[in-house]
Amino acid sequence: MFAQNAGGKMKIKDRARIYKNKIEVDLFYPTIDIIQAIEIDLIDVRKAYPIRIEYDFDRNGWMIKQTIGQQDGIDVWEEAAFITAQSTNYNGCPECGEILKEKNCNNCQYERE
Ligand SMILES: [Zn+2]
Repeated sequence: MFAQNAGGKMKIKDRARIYKNKIEVDLFYPTIDIIQAIEIDLIDVRKAYPIRIEYDFDRNGWMIKQTIGQQDGIDVWEEAAFITAQSTNYNGCPECGEILKEKNCNNCQYERE
């Protein structure tokens, strides 16, 4: 699935594709795979630090991180936003992940609208 080059980076096969005006990327079972994040960088006359997208299974949502600087030459990432996952067939509490059997979560204070 991957072909590693001398710089340690791998080319993606079967996990990303170009469709119309966007690139679609699959984060494929990140809890058991070596790939756990998607990093997006802007190449343009305007400089912007890259962002990183990871899935938080404890909170059931997407974390968007950004660099806040460097420490010992390594980027330090900090969560900039959290997006609760939405799914038509997901029946878990968006707050704690408990399966919702009623309108309200029996495990926490969440109330479905
Ligand atoms: Zn809950």
